[in-house]
Amino acid sequence: MDKDAVNGNFAGTVVSPGEENWDQARAAWNLAADQNPAAVAYPESADDVVAAVNFARANGLGVAAQGTGHGAGSRGPLDGSILLKTERMKAIEIDADNGVGRYEAGVLWMEANPAAGEHGLANFSGSAPDVGIVGYTTGGGFGWLARRYGLACNNVRAIELVTADGEQRRVDADHNADLFWAVRGGGGSFGVVTAIEFDLAELPEVFAGSVIYPAGERSREIISRYFEWAPALPDDVTSIARFLQLPSLPQVPEPLREKPLITLGACYAGPESEGVELIQPIRELGEPVMDTFQTMPPFGLSAVHMEPDEPVPGVVYTASLREAPQEAIDSFIETAGPESGSPLLAAEIRQCGGALGESREGAGALSHLDAEYVFCGIGLPMSPEMGEAINRQLDAVCEALEPWSTESCYLNFADRPTDIEAIFAPETLERLRDVKRRYDPDGLISGNHNISLA
Ligand SMILES: Cc1cc2nc3c(=O)[nH]c(=O)nc-3n(C[C@H](O)[C@H](O)[C@H](O)COP(=O)(O)OP(=O)(O)OC[C@H]3O[C@@H](n4cnc5c(N)ncnc54)[C@H](O)[C@@H]3O)c2cc1C
Repeated sequence: MDKDAVNGNFAGTVVSPGEENWDQARAAWNLAADQNPAAVAYPESADDVVAAVNFARANGLGVAAQGTGHGAGSRGPLDGSILLKTERMKAIEIDADNGVGRYEAGVLWMEANPAAGEHGLANFSGSAPDVGIVGYTTGGGFGWLARRYGLACNNVRAIELVTADGEQRRVDADHNADLFWAVRGGGGSFGVVTAIEFDLAELPEVFAGSVIYPAGERSREIISRYFEWAPALPDDVTSIARFLQLPSLPQVPEPLREKPLITLGACYAGPESEGVELIQPIRELGEPVMDTFQTMPPFGLSAVHMEPDEPVPGVVYTASLREAPQEAIDSFIETAGPESGSPLLAAEIRQCGGALGESREGAGALSHLDAEYVFCGIGLPMSPEMGEAINRQLDAVCEALEPWSTESCYLNFADRPTDIEAIFAPETLERLRDVKRRYDPDGLISGNHNISLA
């Protein structure tokens, strides 16, 4: 790639293979991903993105955008593409009077959340602090407030992006509504997003945390009690049950290291006095190893799951459950619990329903999650052998849950190469392909779980 040619109109930086910092440039947050693009470009503005897209089109290259690389496990090597890393595009604007937050494509949730929180407002971020706003939102966005407010993508007011023709567009319900629909849940295949504008929630405080028990003989009783408790919860509560096995690392609290654990977590979008009563049933299941429930500003939510905030290798996979009768719960425990010898770091069940289960007027391509629960398994492949064992275990859990699973799984939790037909329902996929044909007929721009025309 001719670096000077793109640099003519490009204020950012381009790194090409062979340069000293090439390995650093091509690395993703997910260290298991081996990306080998034609070049890596760091745009500093939407104009830079236009220059890079035009350069790629004129030179027979593709374009792949990345905020952090949390979702890189589902992508290929990116050969023949310019990898556009948006990490320098960091502007944050909060319009407190109108409850709107506008974030440029390189903003992480841990940057956007305190900024909104200063005004008593909340974003719809997920369980990890350093996930990027764009990948999370274009893939849906299932966070601790999801049963109350729905997916993050359905709380978006407008998206700014550069399409394959090099046009900068601001799409919303009244402008390029077809494109606006596709980018909200259909992934990053339709353009390079340069900024997203969200309608924020007025929510200064939440009551949230986890009660953590040892897993072992009582796993079945504790997990089954979770499944009795969760369905009766109001939509203001979002809850998650997990088997967790944390390594011995300085950032992991000592009592939690290298032990099989069960965490029952919840967030109540309301006052502590009511929250305490709502979570009481999961607090009385024995002597906890730790109980972290407390009142916090919503930006505290990204610490509840104690997820890594620095790059690690990862494999993540998922299944959506239309129901969870006792037989399904037993299958989950048998394949993901401590007796299974599972190498997974975490095997979690997230509760759906509430606003997550409703398709609101004007919603995006992922209008809602048509499931009662979502399983998400996560492993850290520190070696190729471990990677194989993790993949086998993820397959085993998904297979065991298959009798209760829906046909489509949740894009953001499918972080390994996955058949696109397993993610989108046929009519949604057809509509997404129509939009792709209209805005990117030559398939210049590719996303993870790419909507290709081939
Ligand atoms: C530890 C961890 C915790 C997680 N927790 C949650 C959670 O609670 N809820 C949830 O819903 N998901 C969660 N996820 C999944 C996460 O939302 C996805 O991996 C998401 O893709 C990450 O977005 P990113 O921008 O950080 O990653 P990236 O890998 O940078 O981006 C992922 C994809 O998004 C698209 N994309 C990114 N930037 C752009 C852009 N500027 N223009 C166009 N397309 C773009 C591309 O297709 C890209 O391949 C978690 C993942 C991890 C690893």
